[in-house]
Amino acid sequence: MSQNITSSKALEDYEMEHRALAERLSKIGFLWAGSINHRYLKCGNPRCACRKDPDARHGPYTYWSTKKAGKTISRKLSGDEAQVFEQWIANRQELKQIADSMMAVSEQAIDLILKQKKRRTEP
Ligand SMILES: [Zn+2]
Repeated sequence: MSQNITSSKALEDYEMEHRALAERLSKIGFLWAGSINHRYLKCGNPRCACRKDPDARHGPYTYWSTKKAGKTISRKLSGDEAQVFEQWIANRQELKQIADSMMAVSEQAIDLILKQKKRRTEP
């Protein structure tokens, strides 16, 4: 009997944890694929130092890239664009982190839930 109380308390804890995660999930903003990277580039001036010296290259320039159908797509971003893309990508990463945590909590809860079901159906 005392074991049943302990396990239903544990199950309550898992449910609470799961609800808290679901609440965070409901507040997630827009999502964006891919990642941001910064590049230093050579310019078109043949006499510019950037032609020979990697340290003299221009930048950093902010790029967004992702893979679509096996091909990498890249796009140079303005400062404003970079801000939005970075936030939305961070949202996507947070979404994944929350989903992973929900999976972990579910994995912990499954045995207790199945045991509880079994107890209810047993005569
Ligand atoms: Zn240059």
